[in-house]
Amino acid sequence: MPPAVDPDRLLADVLAGDRRALARAVTLVESSRADHRDQAARLMQGVMAHSGGAVRIGITGAPGAGKSTFIEAFGLHLIGHGHRVATLAVDPSSPRSGGSILGDKTRMEKLARHADAFVRPSPSGGTLGGVARRTREAVLLCEAAGFDVVIVETVGSGQSETAVAGLVDIFVLLVAPGGGDELQGIKKGVVELADLVVVTKSDGELAEAAARARGEYEAALGLLVPADRRWRPPVLRVSALEGTGIEHVWAAVSDFREVLSGPDGIAARRAEQARAWMWSAVEDGIAARLHRGRAGRDRLADLEAEVLAGKRNPTDAAAEILRRLLRDPE
Ligand code: GDP
Repeated sequence: MPPAVDPDRLLADVLAGDRRALARAVTLVESSRADHRDQAARLMQGVMAHSGGAVRIGITGAPGAGKSTFIEAFGLHLIGHGHRVATLAVDPSSPRSGGSILGDKTRMEKLARHADAFVRPSPSGGTLGGVARRTREAVLLCEAAGFDVVIVETVGSGQSETAVAGLVDIFVLLVAPGGGDELQGIKKGVVELADLVVVTKSDGELAEAAARARGEYEAALGLLVPADRRWRPPVLRVSALEGTGIEHVWAAVSDFREVLSGPDGIAARRAEQARAWMWSAVEDGIAARLHRGRAGRDRLADLEAEVLAGKRNPTDAAAEILRRLLRDPE
């Protein structure tokens, strides 16, 4: 992090499409330092008017499903067709373990090196909500920098998929063949979120299993009520290794955008996401205020101890915490 950031200068560089400036801007919005938060807020205010122009694609799948191989092939394919592609990660493993499944720098090397691509690992530390907020701001920054396709990748934890689905226009589930009939341990809720299912590794010995997996997912999706009755999520097969089927994924994304192009389609999805974002920011702000200040923290710890010891009823303790919060000026 550079010692002094001039948000106006940074904004100008981001708008000029400077990838290094974009990386610095993303680092700034990821920072939790109070002075950085102010600069980030100023930067984001300037970014708003220049954001919204990208196709926002969420991609999830179990570890080993072939996400990074697919995203690299997909990204390079799109760049070949004149797009600029940014990839961001939401990795629920990094806050807890310090290590990260998606943050590995060796992933998507070819794509990351390309002048028309931007690849960013997951911000480390913080809650899933915090990571999602920072990723949401990073999406807007990528758009301001002229990236017209923004991919947000996550690995299955149940919750992180829901968070990512709340950031994107279209949500894609990647599954590897050979999972058999157990649908590879993917939770039904995640399949319900999918606007598109892509069976990966449809090549060589796996081609037959991929065809079977496709049938299984089609059957499973057939039992679900689609989120939007105008769109029945298709199941496609790709081989990132052989480069087959990649263009069909983009075609499906384009179809989806066309079908949901009206005011009650993707625009409504984005509006609802903005509303939900506002409330989650309010909740985060309340939680942050609660834990600020020694006296407040000490009293919270006391109350917690009383509840733990069974000396106080949780509803009553919660009411006291809320009373203290509302009484306290900022
Ligand atoms: P991720 O953990 O979901 O990002 O999965 P990776 O992209 O790292 O891929 C996991 C493994 O599957 C690697 O060994 C890849 O080489 C392999 N793989 C990925 N895509 C394909 C494909 O299209 N065909 C084949 N045969 N293997 C693939």
